[in-house]
Amino acid sequence: MLLTAKDALDDIVAGLEAGADDYLIKPVHSAELAARLKTAQRILNLEATLKKRKEEVERLSVTDLLTGVYNRRYLSEQLPKLLHASHRQGRPLSLVISDIDHFKKINDIYGHQTGDAVLQYFAALMQRSLRTGLDWIARFGGKEFIVVLPETAIDQAAVAADRLGFLTAHSTVEIPKGPVRFAASFRVAGVPAHLADKVSLEALVAAADAALYRAKGNGRNRTEVHQGDFPVKM
Ligand code: GH3
Ligand code: MG
Repeated sequence: MLLTAKDALDDIVAGLEAGADDYLIKPVHSAELAARLKTAQRILNLEATLKKRKEEVERLSVTDLLTGVYNRRYLSEQLPKLLHASHRQGRPLSLVISDIDHFKKINDIYGHQTGDAVLQYFAALMQRSLRTGLDWIARFGGKEFIVVLPETAIDQAAVAADRLGFLTAHSTVEIPKGPVRFAASFRVAGVPAHLADKVSLEALVAAADAALYRAKGNGRNRTEVHQGDFPVKM
């Protein structure tokens, strides 16, 4: 709030441009000042509420509602940026695709609600065992998640995937009917820094997908590491 003399039009304009929201011309009456400040406070409150709502909407637009991890949209938006950063910084990046085994059976035997509980449990379990503030998870399909491991070479990612598999195989979800056990298959794909700007999310996922089916074919509840090349953009 600017207090100014009657003839200071240039000062008023300069003040408003510098960030003042309103001005009063001297002499100022205290009742008017109080009323103007009340209006200003109302506008500030409104602004804060809108900002909070906007952040909430933005958060929801990138979140999977069931599990609370990121959604596929966020993955598609962020991964290309991470791949570029990875190339620029000369650091590898790896993905772990995880897929719950025989999930349809869990739904069929225990019901959809239990299926949902297993998905929530699995997502939370993975989230807990990753590096806070660096690794993140996106729900990619119904029961498929992609774990993004920046600054991680494929061999370290394989260790992480094995750890996730171990934790999954040794965990149970408690429901009123009793404990539900489940397992998952993990597929690791790593991108060396020099290829990071040449590979797309699609190519990476396709390569990892192929190996995931191999993991399932090899008996499920296991990790397969993609060691070969993937198609790169030339
Ligand atoms: P596999 O081991 O070969 O992966 O077999 P699967 O049964 O896990 O996989 P399949 O692709 O045959 O079935 C996936 C099922 O997941 C089918 C679908 O109804 C269920 N599903 C997808 N999204 C959700 C969800 O949000 N909640 C629940 N409860 N089920 C879901
Ligand atoms: Mg399947």
